[in-house]
Amino acid sequence: MRQMDLLWKLQGLDSRIGELEKKLDVYTSKTKLKRLKVKFDEEKSLFDRDEEALKEAVKSSKSNRVKVEELKFGIQKTEEKLYSGAVSSVKQLEGMQKNLEEMQRGIEMLEIANRDIQNRKMRLEEQVRTSRRKLRKYKNTFDGLKEKYNKEEKSARAECEDLKQQRQKLLKRIDKRVLDRYNRVRLGTDTAVVEINEGKCKGCHMEVSVVYTEKLREEELVNCETCGRILYLERNSEG
Ligand SMILES: [Zn+2]
Repeated sequence: MRQMDLLWKLQGLDSRIGELEKKLDVYTSKTKLKRLKVKFDEEKSLFDRDEEALKEAVKSSKSNRVKVEELKFGIQKTEEKLYSGAVSSVKQLEGMQKNLEEMQRGIEMLEIANRDIQNRKMRLEEQVRTSRRKLRKYKNTFDGLKEKYNKEEKSARAECEDLKQQRQKLLKRIDKRVLDRYNRVRLGTDTAVVEINEGKCKGCHMEVSVVYTEKLREEELVNCETCGRILYLERNSEG
């Protein structure tokens, strides 16, 4: 195999290794997962707050109802006494009537407060439902993504290891002088070796002179005049 072909193979391996390493970076940094976790936590604290407020609303609505029942009972008792004929003085009568009015007013106030509480309760229930839905969605997305990352990370790592082994073997077959040249070009660009396509360098799309192409046919290693990349010509190419 020509040195040029070996370099071309090396270029292919290095490109793929580069891609895989970029992917592995994404999997290990877990940026998307972290962002989802933040969203989940934010929603969870809203959920906790609303659920707590809902509990409070239920509690005060219940205690209001108990108070209303107590007042109604009080009214009933007072009225019974009033109509039983047991009331002896006008002063006592007036006192009882005043008492009745106060209890009636108390009931009205409590009922107004209860309507507010009922409205708040309904609003909170809706919020809690929405939050619960969101939380479930975030959790599912998180779990799915995590599983996907784990799987893909595993396969990317395995492929990367395999390619690196192939690379080590390949390096032994490449002349040191040729490898140095490859490494030097690679310092400036990811694709150090490029094909010639219709007489043009595939790296910079500039014309490659006939002399260069001839040199390539003679199995010489040639850099593109314009961009400096190493040019690759297939053995049976007529290009
Ligand atoms: Zn070029």
